[in-house]
Amino acid sequence: MSTARRRVLVVEDEPVINQAVSDRLEAEGYEVVRAFDGPGAVAAFTEHSPDLIVLDVMLPGYDGHEVCRRIQADRPVPVLMLTARADEADVLVGLAVGADDYLTKPFRMRELVARVAALLRRVERATELAGRKALDLGGLTVDAAARRVWRDGEEVRLTPTEFDLLLCLAAQPGAVVTREKLLAEVWGWPGASGTRTVDSHVKGLRAKVGSELIRTVHGVGYALEVAR
Ligand code: CA
Repeated sequence: MSTARRRVLVVEDEPVINQAVSDRLEAEGYEVVRAFDGPGAVAAFTEHSPDLIVLDVMLPGYDGHEVCRRIQADRPVPVLMLTARADEADVLVGLAVGADDYLTKPFRMRELVARVAALLRRVERATELAGRKALDLGGLTVDAAARRVWRDGEEVRLTPTEFDLLLCLAAQPGAVVTREKLLAEVWGWPGASGTRTVDSHVKGLRAKVGSELIRTVHGVGYALEVAR
């Protein structure tokens, strides 16, 4: 990992939790910027360009989902959402607006640190593919360096997770990649929240790049279908 300090924006309205998370991340060597409500989070994002955001869902002003929507429209950034309950509907909304991972309160600081590190590793690994020239996937053009994607000439905005999923599938066009492999490759750690997480993100990716491009192999995984 690069020696440059990574900047993390911590958004949480409960002062005690905000402080605890910030202190722990600073102790781990991160530079921390803090915000306590929705509008403050968007302002801090614009001002400080963080490398990652730890984002509470329930916030004054507007909630974490709205924050996510606004910042992801600006520039893709990895987002770790904090949620009070493991409500599936909540999680699905979060994934739809561009969250990359979830942590349910109460959580252990060690777990939070592990998730933050895994998300940053993922983004860096994908950036290492920057040496590759643009991939042409039949109607879909992928610039790994710039992390940009075009479908039939129109730019498609993917979340960091969707982009990494696409890149992982594109590494072996036509080959079936198991959900477990996608979890390990894209999320960077094997004990991820499960294969349903993969399914949710693939659903989002399909909606953006065209469902015909990604074939489901039931009970196994996914494959990228490249039209010739
Ligand atoms: Ca809160």
